[in-house]
Amino acid sequence: MYYCPECPQSFETLPAIKEHYMHSHNSSVCPICGKPVRKSLACHAKMIWQNRGCELHATLYYLLRTGRGGSAKNNGLYRKAREVAEKVLSSRISWNGGDSDE
Ligand SMILES: [Zn+2]
Ligand SMILES: [Zn+2]
Repeated sequence: MYYCPECPQSFETLPAIKEHYMHSHNSSVCPICGKPVRKSLACHAKMIWQNRGCELHATLYYLLRTGRGGSAKNNGLYRKAREVAEKVLSSRISWNGGDSDE
């Protein structure tokens, strides 16, 4: 079971929670650090994940990225993000519950 970090819903599969997230919680403000994002939330999530190794941002990146297309390098990233997301979403967390280092 996977738990949505922004609402009380839970889902059987990762694609299901992803679908839900993209339709319900996609916004122009990062739910983890509260910053407005200029481009897309997926870009922001990827950048912070890569810069700081933040697992929450990796999860967010997974939730917002579509699985198709992209370069081989991006597909490798996507697979990695999925592994992180699988772990993070299988327990009930909220985005800014644990990891606040700012
Ligand atoms: Zn939700
Ligand atoms: Zn953020």
